[in-house]
Amino acid sequence: MSKRDYYEVLGVDRDATDDDLKRAYRRLAKKYHPDLNPDDPEAEEKFKEVNEAYEVLSDPQNRATYDRFGHAGANGQGFGGFDFDGFGDGGLGDIFDMFFGGTTTGTGRRRKGPVRGADIRYDLEITFEEAAFGAEKEIQVVRMEDCPDCNGTGGKAGAEPVTCPDCNGTGQVRITQTTPFGRFVNVKTCDRCGGEGTIISDPCGRCRGRGKIRTRRKINVKIPAGIDNGQAITLRGEGDIGERGGSPGDLYVYINVKPHKLFKREGYDIYCEVPITFGQAALGAEIDIPTLEGTEKLKIPEGTQTGSTFTLKNRGISHLRGGGRGNQYVTVKVMVPRHLNDEQKALLKEFEKMTSGKEYQEERKGFFDKMKDAFGM
Ligand SMILES: [Zn+2]
Ligand SMILES: [Zn+2]
Repeated sequence: MSKRDYYEVLGVDRDATDDDLKRAYRRLAKKYHPDLNPDDPEAEEKFKEVNEAYEVLSDPQNRATYDRFGHAGANGQGFGGFDFDGFGDGGLGDIFDMFFGGTTTGTGRRRKGPVRGADIRYDLEITFEEAAFGAEKEIQVVRMEDCPDCNGTGGKAGAEPVTCPDCNGTGQVRITQTTPFGRFVNVKTCDRCGGEGTIISDPCGRCRGRGKIRTRRKINVKIPAGIDNGQAITLRGEGDIGERGGSPGDLYVYINVKPHKLFKREGYDIYCEVPITFGQAALGAEIDIPTLEGTEKLKIPEGTQTGSTFTLKNRGISHLRGGGRGNQYVTVKVMVPRHLNDEQKALLKEFEKMTSGKEYQEERKGFFDKMKDAFGM
């Protein structure tokens, strides 16, 4: 990733006055301000870039240094023709950071405080019925836990942490560097102890001194009735263990509900389609329909049309919070018989002759009314 020239970022000439810089900065900072560009990572990036550029160029000393050496210090790409070999890895970064206030500032931040453990995500597939009525499931997660051999100390039984010899317990080391700008003393976090100031002299064999190991753990998850696809159950404190007394992370169990062969779900309501015969539809019948609890009888009246929907109150899915259930909607689909034999066909023809048309009147009327509306007839 190459860094853009700071003057280019602010859109000013190299001989811009302080006022020019200020004006350019104000205009661009306003343009890319996160408050004015919510959820726009590109604007956020630009905003950071503008701020960084102005921070450097608005300081006369930093600007002079930048004019001479460019960005090279920040990304170690050489100062453009200027040979900087021999300063070692990261040396230029450190110098640059001292001038420009980068992220790994020369003060060598000590990481002594408690750190919360990481959260864990687990994806769990459940059935439609389990989502509807709730369930209890056992899952297996792999998480960081205190090493049982050393109880999280990282040392062999009885081994006490000792003062780090590299930093004498300060957690920081000083590095003196000779640079074109002069001699600098840079203070860094000690690599050997990671800023702790102590190391384990006799590390635990099981965790190799880390104090933590990946552990497979069985966890019971209570799935509440009514949960839906994509929702998550949070198990507080069931994530990775924290560091230095930090609280553990959380476990998020994301629910993936398998589709049902018969039911569709919308919120807490369920929908299904049931085929009925032409005869049942015309004469009325008691038909078998599926429900979440099994099969049930449903009475359909004489003259039921295809696509008619019947509502079974409170037969849907339990509300996630509080009592009550959604409804079940049963839509009937009238089947037209196929492969009729000659006798059946003859009977049906007879039947057609016997129907004068008034038997279809309501449906026809509905249709012609709609046609009138549509075409203004
Ligand atoms: Zn150390
Ligand atoms: Zn251990």
